[in-house]
Amino acid sequence: MKTILSAAGERWNSGPPAVARFSALRTTSYYARVKTIGLIGGMSWQSTLPYYRIINQRVAQRLGGLHSAKCVLYSVDFAEIEELQSAGDWAAAGRRMAEAAQAVERAGADFLVLCTNTMHKVAGAIEAAARIPLLHIADATAERIRAAGLRRIGLLGTRYTMEDDFYRGRLESKFGLEVVIPSDAQRQRVHDIIYDGLCRGDTTGAAELQDVVGTLSQKGARGVILGCTELGLAIKPESSPVPLFDTAVIHAEEAADFALAPATTTG
Ligand code: GLU
Repeated sequence: MKTILSAAGERWNSGPPAVARFSALRTTSYYARVKTIGLIGGMSWQSTLPYYRIINQRVAQRLGGLHSAKCVLYSVDFAEIEELQSAGDWAAAGRRMAEAAQAVERAGADFLVLCTNTMHKVAGAIEAAARIPLLHIADATAERIRAAGLRRIGLLGTRYTMEDDFYRGRLESKFGLEVVIPSDAQRQRVHDIIYDGLCRGDTTGAAELQDVVGTLSQKGARGVILGCTELGLAIKPESSPVPLFDTAVIHAEEAADFALAPATTTG
């Protein structure tokens, strides 16, 4: 039988025993202290769907029974966001994300999960506007890579994510990773496949993306970060020569684990 270590440090075989459930109800000790996840999604909605599924699957797996995640979702109209991105108006994009973060906080969230790599470019604006913490997608991913013992790592994502310092720089300076990115022409193709294909539910660019993964591995990458939350919808580990780090999956799992973690559940 699979043993589960509860967030409260108890050992459960498949969720808490009846007595723990009863005492939890009486004392509102553990379950009442499970944190509410504040998702800022819709960028695009194609990848917000798996976030919701993975978070709930993880909570159900860890707590058993009918348990599911406490969460609120603020889902934007991605067309408005993409317009600001391509106009280079990151200040306005930051204000938009800050408003979303405040709305999620008012709705009762205990922490924020921004369901896109690219928009972490304005993480500072979000953190300045909200009183609750932001679970940074690059940190969650870098920790998994380090746990796997890898250092030289490929990065795929939008041009902003592959080229700008907010993401690459963070992986390198905060986590000591050596980041390998595709050529300029390949970066443009990956970027276009994301916006013109994957964010619209079209995965016909999958084979081309697989080729770019192959190129990164030839450049010495020991693994590849799927640094756009839609990439996992098209690139599959079974056709990759190196391990893949799917940021959407990692981030969603970390969100569930953080919600269940005991450290900041008191108060
Ligand atoms: N979901 C994508 C990402 O993880 C791209 C969409 C966006 O620009 O936010 O970067």
